Amino acid sequence: MRRRAFDIRHRDRKALREGYSPAVRRFEIASIALYCCAMGWFLWGLLPLVGTYPWLMASAFMFGFVLADFVSGIVHWAADTWGSPDMPVIGQALIRPFREHHVDQKEITRHDFIETNGNNCFISIGPAVCGALLPLDDALNVFAATAIFSVTLWVLFTNQFHKWSHLDVRPRWVDLLQRLNLVLPPDHHAVHHSAPFAKYYCITVGWLNEPLHRLRFFQTLEWVITATTGVVPREDDIGAIAAREILDEDPGPMPADNVAPEPEL
Ligand SMILES: [Zn+2]
Ligand SMILES: [Zn+2]
Repeated sequence: MRRRAFDIRHRDRKALREGYSPAVRRFEIASIALYCCAMGWFLWGLLPLVGTYPWLMASAFMFGFVLADFVSGIVHWAADTWGSPDMPVIGQALIRPFREHHVDQKEITRHDFIETNGNNCFISIGPAVCGALLPLDDALNVFAATAIFSVTLWVLFTNQFHKWSHLDVRPRWVDLLQRLNLVLPPDHHAVHHSAPFAKYYCITVGWLNEPLHRLRFFQTLEWVITATTGVVPREDDIGAIAAREILDEDPGPMPADNVAPEPEL
């Protein structure tokens, strides 16, 4: 079923760009430095075990790649759907870039390494430190620690893969990785960039986008949050009118022929 055109109203592009302040830049640099320290410490603990658990650690590493795709979807969905750049502390640093990306999707191609990857390093520091503190005394813990290391590593690369999907001209080896579906392909990610920007949130490789879409995974989360809090999803991103129109049109987490009651707001 085709959606009709909604009255999408984004925030002002220039104001969003001006939100990238020297303070946000310093926050990103500090995040990258701390992330590198945490990951170096983490790797130092894992490397001596590779000879003892080669296949276990290889499978945990692959599992971490798929899990990173899922984590990218959760973080992207949360930042696109809730909150505002006006929020204290996280608004300008963590939410503003997602608003800006829907207004001007080519802006990411002009970001340097620090602006592209600073935020993802920040969200990975906590999990990396927790993973490094796991006692590596049995196979289960080694699997868990390797998977956490893998997730935090691929989360770092996620926005780089996302940036590549927006480039007009790509190195041939990047083009090959995209054609092989080993990093986020541009035509696949383009699905997310059609209004109202409400599906295909996974941006590491995109393998989980179609399954999560069919399961109505994010729609169900939104329905539960709206039903319990009354907050309208995407209100800050696409404007109150369009967000309310979509909410009124959506039957909820159940399929259309088994419609759940509308949340009372
Ligand atoms: Zn988005
Ligand atoms: Zn994008």
